[in-house]
Amino acid sequence: MISVEEALGKILDLVHVLEKEEKPLLECLGQTCAEDIYAPFYIPPSDNSAMDGYAVQYESIKEATREHPAILHVIGESPAGEPSRFIVKPGTAVRIMTGALLPDGADVVVPFEETNESLLRQANASSVEIYIYRGISSGANIRKKGEDIVEGTLVIPKDTFLRPAEIGVLASIGKTVVPVIRKPVVAILATGNELVDVGEKRPPYNIYNSNSYSLAAQVIRYGCSPKILGVARDEVGNLTDAIRQGLDADLLITSGGVSMGDYDIVKDILAKEGEIHFWTVRMKPGKPLAFGVLKRDDGKTVPHLGLPGNPVSAMITFEIFGRPAILRMMGRKNLEKPTIKAVLEDGVVNTDDRRIFTRVWVTQRDEGYYATLTGPQGSGILTSMSSANGLAIIPETVKEVFPGTVVDVIMLGWDEG
Ligand code: AMP
Ligand code: MG
Repeated sequence: MISVEEALGKILDLVHVLEKEEKPLLECLGQTCAEDIYAPFYIPPSDNSAMDGYAVQYESIKEATREHPAILHVIGESPAGEPSRFIVKPGTAVRIMTGALLPDGADVVVPFEETNESLLRQANASSVEIYIYRGISSGANIRKKGEDIVEGTLVIPKDTFLRPAEIGVLASIGKTVVPVIRKPVVAILATGNELVDVGEKRPPYNIYNSNSYSLAAQVIRYGCSPKILGVARDEVGNLTDAIRQGLDADLLITSGGVSMGDYDIVKDILAKEGEIHFWTVRMKPGKPLAFGVLKRDDGKTVPHLGLPGNPVSAMITFEIFGRPAILRMMGRKNLEKPTIKAVLEDGVVNTDDRRIFTRVWVTQRDEGYYATLTGPQGSGILTSMSSANGLAIIPETVKEVFPGTVVDVIMLGWDEG
């Protein structure tokens, strides 16, 4: 039996960053940028107005007050999206909209609120004079050329994880396609004679295959594409054929068939069709985890994560091992799931020196985080995963944790940064 860290180390040693591809901008959300992206022009491309107001010269308004307004001659209007056609001189103003190019000569925009604009609108008067009530400082309400992005600078470095903000930045520099690291395809195979697939008729002595769905959902949640291979029988021929169906994927995940029972033949097939790197990890749930590589006819290998069949064990071992493996393939650098310190409000007894991942519900109160167990912790009780938002970690070296102890909790719903 090896530790969680050793097991993860062996898995990560074997998976590598996938090759790059070019994709339409929006489809790149959640992928890693594969090249340094430089800005082809300045953003904003020119000085422009940050407010709806009047573009003027500071000299014309610097002494303006409500009692002694500066009275300026309005020489025109400048909406956004049009070239600037005016030159502002002392004593003149251009009525300007947010985002419109700043006319030559102007060095400040006075917002409508600091003028008699609303009175003019109310009176429906089209005046060529505007009253300015405040001498706001030079440069105010102007967005300077390049204040966001300077032409030629690195805007999105290689390896950046593309979130909605990065998609926006790439759009702002006119990118329609982006080089990204390809998404891994993860083949998912359920094993077990007792399983029928959802949508099929279920005899009373059978159960539905839920693992393929919870695992595929986890794969999708972390930005990869699942390839569901259905259910294989606990029989060498059928299971071998089914496993071979998954060899075109970047990772094959099986669930079930890795324990000590008579029908647990997944690891035998892994040994025959490839190479086992480890079996059994010092954790609970999830001890009978198998990992290795399967050989393909073309000589290449495919990593194979043989997860335990119990629905909770399958989900937790995916979270601890499958998730970092696929994130690495996607070129992600930070593989750490956010972990917090929380006061455990229940006691946990550790009977067999394994690291326990206990399902908890974490709440935040004034003084910090508190975690309570989500009820019975059997590894077949999938609803206890559904009612959990975290996994509290009880170290393998600790025999008993008493209520009130501070523990590490992996926050299942939080994203790695
Ligand atoms: P195994 O590891 O194959 O012995 O399976 C352990 C337990 O998990 C058994 O009770 C199985 O019926 C159950 N199990 C295995 N695979 C699945 C699955 N795909 N969906 C739901 N339960 C499963
Ligand atoms: Mg089984």
